[in-house]
Amino acid sequence: MIVVGGHLDSWDVGEGAHDDGAGCVQSMEVLRSIKAITGKPKRTIRCVLYMNEENGNRGGHAYADWAAEQDEQHIMAFESDAGGFSPRGFTLDADAAYVKHFQKLKPWLLPYGIHHIESGWGGVDISPLKSQETILIGLVPDSQRYMDYHHTANDVFENVNKRELELGAATMSSVIWWVSEYGIPDIKPNINSSQH
Ligand SMILES: [Zn+2]
Repeated sequence: MIVVGGHLDSWDVGEGAHDDGAGCVQSMEVLRSIKAITGKPKRTIRCVLYMNEENGNRGGHAYADWAAEQDEQHIMAFESDAGGFSPRGFTLDADAAYVKHFQKLKPWLLPYGIHHIESGWGGVDISPLKSQETILIGLVPDSQRYMDYHHTANDVFENVNKRELELGAATMSSVIWWVSEYGIPDIKPNINSSQH
């Protein structure tokens, strides 16, 4: 199982278009584009639109609790919750060896300006899945203008650029398709050389 998602709720002023309508439609676009371009993926890809990210993360916890009861192995969860701006890369909440593995994608993504593949934050909604040893990934869009919109009256549909939004979705689709086809290798965690 691979999960991709964003959050539906937006309690503050504005419409929540960037935060996190963008992440929701990008996650749905991942399913559409992979099906349209490659047909049926090898692994199951599930889009989850979470409720209540901004006030307790009850949606994220409810999904993780439900997932734990199913006989499903969640190998990766991808979240988009940093705005619908031009993608710069993604961060991984995972062992350094896995970060290195995902950095293999750089030659293919670099021509599109996708260069930031580093250790870091996955996302609030997917964070409860960490207990299942799931690799957590967060999309990293260009952040320079995010605070012009984030939780302000400017966070409306008209202020989301279609092309930039699509590029983010395409980045997510590329990474998710790669994992769905080739899986995640069984990597032994790095052992610090000073321990020898
Ligand atoms: Zn958000």
